[in-house]
Amino acid sequence: MTTSAQLFERACRHIPGGVNSPVRAFKGLERPPVFMERAQGAYLFDVEGKRYVDYVGSWGPMITGHADPEVLGAVRERLDSGLSFGTPTAIETTMADLICEMIPSIEMVRMVNSGTEATMSAIRLARGYTGRDKIVKFEGNYHGHSDSLLVKAGSGALTHGEPSSPGVPAALAEHTVTLSYNDPDAVEQCFEEIGDQVACIIVEPVAGNMNCIPPQPGFLETLRRVCDRHESVLIFDEVMTGFRVAMGGAQAHYGVEPDLTCLGKIVGGGMPVGAFGGRRGIMENISPLGPVYQAGTLAGNPLAMAAGIALLTKLREPGFHDALSQRVETLCHGLQERADAAGIDMITQQAGGMFGVFFTGQSRVDNFAQATACDGDAFRRFFASMLEQGVYMAPSAFEAGFMSSAHAPEDIQLTLDAAEVAFAAMRQD
Ligand code: PMP
Repeated sequence: MTTSAQLFERACRHIPGGVNSPVRAFKGLERPPVFMERAQGAYLFDVEGKRYVDYVGSWGPMITGHADPEVLGAVRERLDSGLSFGTPTAIETTMADLICEMIPSIEMVRMVNSGTEATMSAIRLARGYTGRDKIVKFEGNYHGHSDSLLVKAGSGALTHGEPSSPGVPAALAEHTVTLSYNDPDAVEQCFEEIGDQVACIIVEPVAGNMNCIPPQPGFLETLRRVCDRHESVLIFDEVMTGFRVAMGGAQAHYGVEPDLTCLGKIVGGGMPVGAFGGRRGIMENISPLGPVYQAGTLAGNPLAMAAGIALLTKLREPGFHDALSQRVETLCHGLQERADAAGIDMITQQAGGMFGVFFTGQSRVDNFAQATACDGDAFRRFFASMLEQGVYMAPSAFEAGFMSSAHAPEDIQLTLDAAEVAFAAMRQD
């Protein structure tokens, strides 16, 4: 039995499923999860000392690699001043100023502790601001685990076969309308019917929780147009895409401005942080300025702010995102070449610093139905072989892959060599 298997057995005694977040459990992969001991740059090291080139990056935050010395240094510098005060601190203003500068559609921003809190609060704000109850979301998009949003969701909810969770009251779920991603006609039709009851549309501007699905040209523009027409709030959930797809997020990359933006992951540099912000006229409805209540004992935590600010500051180096995107392109192109040579039906999709690998004979994957129709067995064999060879891909076919600036050409080459071996083995099976 491996050390990881032993640790997993122990973990399962007092932690449901042995994990504190479901997708870590390697469900359906017929092996226990790998327990990691430490991480550095592009690598994870497991409890037996084995090294992996990591394409999960703590599910997104580690965009400059693990244990970035400047991020750790910023945290170390704050540490001796104390962990939390429950009072305003100047560093929170530094963070707010930085976010508003990097994402111009955000005029005011509130810090929270997770992406889930960011989306949950943004939805409440949109409902409070418009006085309407209904929200529109898209099948396979994941916005955290608050009640209204766990209806036909992606990510772990999808991997675990429970996209609509028990425990969400039907009376609440009935206010959530779920449409197909990349289907502007469905959005137009929905708004023709019930537009005046819709508080908001919430969308992942690049879907990253059913693998990686960029928006089709015109899709985000349609969302903007119908929201303007019906005075609904457009919320971009950029928890994953913010500061990754481009410095200003997917909204900068695709040129469509939402009313509210949700952030998480990179904004905390690996610490538990989320944020939501947007147009001043909407944000002024949040307490204590307005009546929509939202609060957090540890929100704006100084250590978390220090980590986030240090990371965001690094991303402002000219050319950072172009170089990152180029690395993803090299990886995706290399994977495609090797899959084609081996006769494996596989395609890749990319948006800036994130990517997806789909085992399908289709030339594109644009929505949930197409993502779930991909070959799950092929994914499992690919994942197992890559893991064995020291490449850590997301342990689910419904998650995006993440590149960091610490991934050197040698790491990408190692990944491509491993993929060649994996494809050859898959071909023989
Ligand atoms: N929104 C999106 C787009 C996400 O990808 C995630 C998490 N992967 C969340 C919200 C929830 O964030 P958290 O896990 O920090 O609550």
